[in-house]
Amino acid sequence: MRVNLRSDTVTLPSDAMRAAMASAPVGDDVYGEDPTVNSLEERVAELFGKEAGVFTPTGSLANQLAIRTLVAPGEELLAESNSHIVRAELGAAAVFSGITTRTWTAERGLLHAQDALSMAKPNSGAYLVSTTAIAVENTHNFGGGTVQSIEEIRKLHEGAQEQGLSLHLDGARIFNAHVASGISLKDYGKYFDTISVCLSKGLGAPVGSIALSTSERITKARIWRKRYGAGMRQVGILAAAGHFALDNNIARLADDHRRAQFIATKLHSVLASVVDPQHVHTNIVSLNLIDVPISASEFAVLAKEEGVLISALGPKFARIVTHLDIDDASMEYSAQTLANVLQRALVSK
Ligand SMILES: *Cc1c(COP(=O)(O)O)cnc(C)c1O
Repeated sequence: MRVNLRSDTVTLPSDAMRAAMASAPVGDDVYGEDPTVNSLEERVAELFGKEAGVFTPTGSLANQLAIRTLVAPGEELLAESNSHIVRAELGAAAVFSGITTRTWTAERGLLHAQDALSMAKPNSGAYLVSTTAIAVENTHNFGGGTVQSIEEIRKLHEGAQEQGLSLHLDGARIFNAHVASGISLKDYGKYFDTISVCLSKGLGAPVGSIALSTSERITKARIWRKRYGAGMRQVGILAAAGHFALDNNIARLADDHRRAQFIATKLHSVLASVVDPQHVHTNIVSLNLIDVPISASEFAVLAKEEGVLISALGPKFARIVTHLDIDDASMEYSAQTLANVLQRALVSK
């Protein structure tokens, strides 16, 4: 058996999704004439209670378009130190938008509003950098798929309002947060000025993200999307996959969460310090191999020999992600296989 748990981006479009793509009505989206793109942008905006959305090929671009509408060159965005915007977008905010960032560090990425608010320095004048926006990642990827507390988001919003700061939500996996917490997408949406969401993570589309905000900001974002070279033409065939994902793949994220929990519980039973199942909120299982005598990459190689692919993201940090293409049989196989690898590693040295 071969089980790919490296990311929820590895899913393959199903036959039904491909059929929906093949039959989608399309037009030239640079002219605003692709009906499937237009309806997807409107649909996602409506889901989050926002005025407008713009379709992008990647979540990174959706984040970048959003934050550049909030933060002027030379101004500052605050973000958590392990957030995707800071660590995995290759400095795009600095390179393309002249945005400077300062970070706070949070255990497992969990938001405490005060961490961000106490750092903010809006309208700093001619000496210090002025803060204009704060970014929140929900769920937090490198934090282990953790769901942010709605109470902390509410506090952050209140404090941001007082200081005149904007808020951005990196919602690459906001659908996982929604399914795990039961909090509606509109309730998440109302606290943020801009939002990015991915259709290509747990929802299983091959490509596609959306940036959401006011009509005015999205009109600007559309100009920047074209300037960055991502004005696309008959891209309704991709937007159709997004519609299909929204129709079929939201509620089933609960299965991904259950399977991640199963794998975490199995590994916890071999060595408790590797993962606390209570810290697994959604579809990501972070493994801490600090008490294991091999490195994360050695662990990944041994697992791969048994057909289970996982990510080594640090010397002692590995990540497992469940998704659409993992069923109960592959869950059981990978949990048992990873448990065996762990067991062998513990007795090997
Ligand atoms: C995957 C991801 C993104 C976007 O990634 P792309 O590969 O550019 O689509 C943004 N934020 C988070 C938290 C992610 O996990």
